[in-house]
Order: sequence, then structure tokens, then C-alpha cells
Amino acid sequence: MKNKKAIVLLLIVIVIGIVIYHLTIKDNNGAPPPPQKKQEVNALSFYHWWISPGESAAVNALIDVFADKYPGVAILPISVAGRDIGGGSFDLFNVIQPMIMAGEAPDAFQMNGGYSGGRFLGGNYLEQIDNIWEEEGLEEITPPIVQDISRYDGHYYAVPVNIHRTNVVWYNKKLLDENNIDPAFLTSWDAFFKACDTLQAAGVAYPVQMAAAWTAGQVFEGIIAGIGIDFYEDWINGKVTDPQDPKLLEAFEIFKKYLSYANPDSPELAWNAATNRVITGEGAFNIMGDWNNGEFKAAGLNYGVDYGVFAVPGTRRLYGLGIDTFQRPKGIAHPTNADRWLRVVVSKEGQDAFNPLKGSISARLDSDVTKYDNYQKSAIRDFWSAQYMYPTISNGVPVSLADKIQNTLADFIQNPDVNKAASEIADFTNSIPEQFTRIWILE
Ligand code: BGC
Repeated sequence: MKNKKAIVLLLIVIVIGIVIYHLTIKDNNGAPPPPQKKQEVNALSFYHWWISPGESAAVNALIDVFADKYPGVAILPISVAGRDIGGGSFDLFNVIQPMIMAGEAPDAFQMNGGYSGGRFLGGNYLEQIDNIWEEEGLEEITPPIVQDISRYDGHYYAVPVNIHRTNVVWYNKKLLDENNIDPAFLTSWDAFFKACDTLQAAGVAYPVQMAAAWTAGQVFEGIIAGIGIDFYEDWINGKVTDPQDPKLLEAFEIFKKYLSYANPDSPELAWNAATNRVITGEGAFNIMGDWNNGEFKAAGLNYGVDYGVFAVPGTRRLYGLGIDTFQRPKGIAHPTNADRWLRVVVSKEGQDAFNPLKGSISARLDSDVTKYDNYQKSAIRDFWSAQYMYPTISNGVPVSLADKIQNTLADFIQNPDVNKAASEIADFTNSIPEQFTRIWILE
């Protein structure tokens, strides 16, 4: 009898153990095991999605700045490859969210600015860090649009680490030279498509290289901006709600033509694989944020010699920008080191170590320009003289709309039906007026 009871008790203990084990796994949503609070008293853990060669070089340089300043701290950076094959916050956020909910949040994590972190901001998962902005004097040395993108409901929850330009076309210089194409003249879509014809006639099967659907979103936003900054402003403020809007239809027509020159395998391609084809000369052009610059550099290429860049047709005086930020979740294990990390991320030294390798420019107006390459120097000049700046989709529109755009474009790549795509975007925009909680005034 006693034995029977003991066996039953043992079974109950085993079952409870299995249940707890499964619940824990589920809570982590496939994430790596959370940092051990008790073992790492002087540690810093943070998550990011920078996994390409250029991105890794940049984040390592930032870590080096931190390590030099705080030599005793054990640093644990964890990278999560995105569903969107790089460039994607989706998978990273799906890992971070349950960790925060379970009280096991990493000390900091990467995100895009603006709307991108909506699920955390609305859900109260992040610490407000107005004090860091104030103590570091950040309002004095960052442009207003960077401040807007880092703020939510009047408070700061994030620090910026860069400014990426998004309305740029990268090209293989040798290929253009061989075919007598002068990029200075590629200022209209007609001229651009003519250059693509020339390249195809010379045997370049797919002059345009594109990657997974989120990169199609970048192309599409560039097209919208090229049609007109007022139209772009309306679009991100949720005012383009007519399925027959002639400018929306025009944007899809241009994108359709663009696709006719693009590689058919784009949906399966990582962003830097498309870049790589421009590096090798398999393709001539790709529209991508200037994290591409980091990739060209990591491959040993020189700006102006091996590769170059021009503005997406129609956007020469515009600066489309995407900002990466770091924030501090609630309930973290190492608040002092998290605070130090955020201050290093936003420091002049941190930004001037990170951005020259990342390809982007500093989010600070007092950066040391001599540390930057010739592309970046010209980007800094363009930034200063831009007629208008505008946020990229991930920063600029509610997450649900950004997803809708991405899905619509993914379908469009398979079946380019202009009317259907325009209706999908316009109708969806029309159905979520309450989600446009930011009003963008582009200047
Ligand atoms: C980020 C960049 C990153 C790119 C590709 C973008 O969303 O802002 O920092 O390099 O994705 O991974």
C-alpha cells in the first residue's frame, strides 16, 4: 500500500515536471535560454538582427567601445535571423515579448524607430528613458525627426544608433561603364528602364536585383516618394484611401515595370544575397537602405571605384530615413549595464565606431565626419541639404499596414494586378483610422 502511494506520488511529480518543462519552452517561444541572473552579476545581454558581414562588423565595433569603457562586464549579444531574412523585427520581437512577460527580458534590444515597436510601447513593456535623453543632451544634437521617431506619447523609450538612407539605388560601376550608362542621367523612371533595356541587350538577364518582400517595400516606398512628397505624407498619415487614386495606381504601374527587369527568385533571397549579385556584376542595380554600403565595404569594394549610388528617380532632394534604436525592457537583470549600453549606443564615440562600418550616418549632428567614407560624406551633405525627410515604412506607418503592404507586394510579385493591389492597400488603410496615432508633418 505504502509502495503504491509512493509510486503514485512519484508519477505526479514527474508529470508536473514535464508540464513545467513544456510551459517554459512555450514561454520562450523557441528563444535561446534567458540569461542567468544570479550567475552573471556584472553582465549585459542584448538582442539584435544584424547577421550579415557588414552588420556584424558594425555591431562588434560598438561592443568594443563598450568593452573598453567597462572592461569587467561580460557581454552577451544574441542575434536572431528574421522571418524576413534579415531586416526583420518580426522574429526578434516574437522572441523578446515572451521573455519580457516571463520576467526574463534581455537588458536591451534592437528595433526600428517610430511605429515599429508598437506592440511594446502600447503594452508598457519598456522603461521610459527621458533621463538619458536629458543627461546626454540629446535634444541639442539630434535632428527633430530623429527625436519624433524615438518618442512615444511625449516620452522617450529609445535611443537611436544611426540614420539609414533608404531612397538609394546601388550600382555596379564596371557594368555601367562597360555599357556607357552614366548614372548621373538616371533621374527618371524612363531613363532607368532604358538603362535596364541596354543592359539586357548586352546579356545581363536581370539588371535589377531584389530580395525578400520587405525589400520590395523599400522599392515601393521610393516609388511613392518619387511621385511626390505630399503624396508620401498623405500615404503615411493614412489618407490614401481611394482604390482608384491615380497616384497609387501609377505607383503600382511603375513597380510592375520595375519587376519586369528583376530576378524572379527574389522572394527566397536574403537582402545581402541580392546585394552580392550587384557586387559580382550578375546584376547592375538594387534599391536598398544604405546598410548595403556596409556590405560593399565588407566585400572589400571601394565607393566611386567599384560601386556607386544615386537617388531613386524623383527623390534627389529627399532623404528617406530608417533609424535603428535600442531600448531597455522592464524587469531586466542588469539595469546599470543596460543604462551604460544605451549611453554608449547614443554616444559620439559609439556612433562613430558603428556607423562607418554599418554604411549609415550618425544620428548625431556632431559626428566626426573624417571617420566616414565618401558615400557617407555625400550622404551627410544630402542629409543637411535635403528639401524633405521622410520615415521609411517600418518607422512611418502602423505595423498592421506595414504588414499589409508587404503581403500585397509579395502577391503582386507573383501576379502583378495593379487594380487589385491598389484596392487592397487603400481599403485596408481605410479600415484602421484609429491606428494612425502619429501625425507626420514632413519638412
Ligand atoms: C535595419 C538595418 C539592417 C537591415 C537589414 C533594417 O531594418 O534598420 O539596420 O541592416 O534591416 O538587416
